[in-house]
Amino acid sequence: MAIDEKEFKKKMEKVKESLAQSVVVPQQLTRKDRLNFRCYPGIGCFTKCCSGIRINLTPYDIFRLKKRLGMSYHDFLMEYTVPRSIDGTPLPIAVLKLKDDKEKSCPFVTPEGCTVYSDRPVTCRYYPIGMAIMKKHDKETGQDFFIKIKEDHCLGHKEEKDWTIDEWRADQESDLYDEMNNDWMEVVLKAKTLGIVEFGQKSLDLFFMVSSNLDMFRDFVFNSNFLDSYEIAPEVVAKIKADELELLKFSLKWLRFTMFGEGDFKVKDEARRLAKERQKAAARENARLKEERAKKALAKKPEEVMKEADRGE
Ligand code: SF4
Ligand code: SF4
Repeated sequence: MAIDEKEFKKKMEKVKESLAQSVVVPQQLTRKDRLNFRCYPGIGCFTKCCSGIRINLTPYDIFRLKKRLGMSYHDFLMEYTVPRSIDGTPLPIAVLKLKDDKEKSCPFVTPEGCTVYSDRPVTCRYYPIGMAIMKKHDKETGQDFFIKIKEDHCLGHKEEKDWTIDEWRADQESDLYDEMNNDWMEVVLKAKTLGIVEFGQKSLDLFFMVSSNLDMFRDFVFNSNFLDSYEIAPEVVAKIKADELELLKFSLKWLRFTMFGEGDFKVKDEARRLAKERQKAAARENARLKEERAKKALAKKPEEVMKEADRGE
């Protein structure tokens, strides 16, 4: 159906209005573009950006924060997070739980500033520069670019200090966080790109475990048949046993493999054979139960069927 000109103009006005209200500056920036910005204790808007926000916690965010606070993953998740889904996907993620005060403040903000500053989440490090990835439908990897977020309350944009985006990101350690989270971000990006794909509950549970609870993943690796299922070099096993950061990197690589088959994990032949046998046994059991139900239904007398229908069974 053709849209008439009046309606088209009205729609375009609405688009323009919403762009004008947006805090995102409509310009794609590269790593070499410059930005005027400075944020420091004493600036008039200090900590104004630390309330009423949603902070999705990445695996490396949780690793750094729980270490900083000297907590177990379980205790950290219970005290500081709420479960939500990543926008545009069914993937579950831990989100920072805001305080129940009027401003909905971050649990780590005080009038003096951020109490976990050197371990703050990557979302706080990106601000006011967001990263976006443009992925062509026929390409495996995407090309990243940056956007600037300019909110009225943020006075940092009025400061003289100028940097390239690269310099700003290095100062904020954003690149380090992105590098650590790289495999995980690839999984999220792929899930967003595929959009309509339905993940089974088991995949969603695995995603949440790897994304937020490394203690649980460690238990899964060392106290299940995990190590009997994959060909993993003994020196890698020793490394992930001794070093939590190595375990984190390993867990994210494995997540990418188990969800999308990407990466160089190799399932042992014996494990593959057993998995096939389990699948066949499950299919046989399903067929048996179906047959049993059908036989029972056929054996019923008509008056029994009528009674069940009355009871809504
Ligand atoms: S973690 Fe720190 S920087 Fe980030 S919102 Fe909370 S107080 Fe602000
Ligand atoms: S509002 Fe902007 S300048 Fe002010 S504290 Fe937050 S990031 Fe820094």
